[in-house]
Amino acid sequence: MQGKIVKGISGFYYVHVAETGIYECKAKGAFRKDKIKPLVGDDVTIAVLDEDKKLGNVEEIHPRSNELIRPAVSNIDMALVIFAAAKPQPNFNLLDRFLCMMEYQKVPVTICFNKCDLIDDEEKEQLRKIYEPAGYNILFTSAKTKLHVDELKKLLEGKTTAVAGPSGVGKSSLVNSLQDGVRMETGGISRKIERGKHTTRHSELIPISEKTYIMDTPGFSSMDVPGFEKEDLWTCYPEFREFEPNCRFQGCSHISEPDCGVKDALQEGRISQIRYDNYVLLYEELKNKPKKY
Ligand code: GDP
Ligand code: ZN
Repeated sequence: MQGKIVKGISGFYYVHVAETGIYECKAKGAFRKDKIKPLVGDDVTIAVLDEDKKLGNVEEIHPRSNELIRPAVSNIDMALVIFAAAKPQPNFNLLDRFLCMMEYQKVPVTICFNKCDLIDDEEKEQLRKIYEPAGYNILFTSAKTKLHVDELKKLLEGKTTAVAGPSGVGKSSLVNSLQDGVRMETGGISRKIERGKHTTRHSELIPISEKTYIMDTPGFSSMDVPGFEKEDLWTCYPEFREFEPNCRFQGCSHISEPDCGVKDALQEGRISQIRYDNYVLLYEELKNKPKKY
């Protein structure tokens, strides 16, 4: 049988099979010889050991389209980062960290500002101006008034999307509003959503419909993807790219060097001051990070 690993806890893998439900599986396949460990997000073939008790073995891991390190998951098509437009005010530093991690791992991101019932058009424009020059897809939603919830639904359809964002921004409310009419197979997962409390530290896939999954990704603010150094940071700011050829020095960090194209663009208002300020903060943080070997 074919399914998808939606959760992994201490050696058990929970495999979602469309129609029949979720099987608790152990890893038994030949992939173990190659030291490959199953990941949440893996498409797998399982052998059912007990249909009543829903027990099985993972026998084969299908080729992965990608594999992230933070969070440790596979086959992610997109990341959706949710912040509240207000109450609480968006923490742009946290948002930029997340964007950098996804940029570094080459995952396309959509930024969702929820609670847009609480802000006016002018405020939306201000948010748009920060992130549009970087090329990010931006959605303004309200779980309360259902503003653009259909667009969000359409965007997610057929994809596996990693969802991140601080608590209190309306993630659970949004996810619940996506699930209209969809019966959840797993008491555990749906109960967790209803409660709206994300106590788990594990990544977990939530089936929304056949072929559509969203993934809860706790702890997304850390920048400790192995190998990520300060020199990688500017490659994670897409809006810098067109101005970098104007920098006098190769490998310009765009902070203290003279004749810097990025700083010129900042002066001209073509790069957001908020984005740049966070860049400098993150650069300093990475510079002072103790090296791990
Ligand atoms: P989570 O912690 O990110 O999952 O956020 P919740 O979904 O639990 O929502 C946190 C609080 O924000 C709750 O009191 C919700 O009723 C409220 N909330 C969620 N979405 C919206 C929205 O679009 N507009 C407004 N005004 N409040 C919202
Ligand atoms: Zn520069």
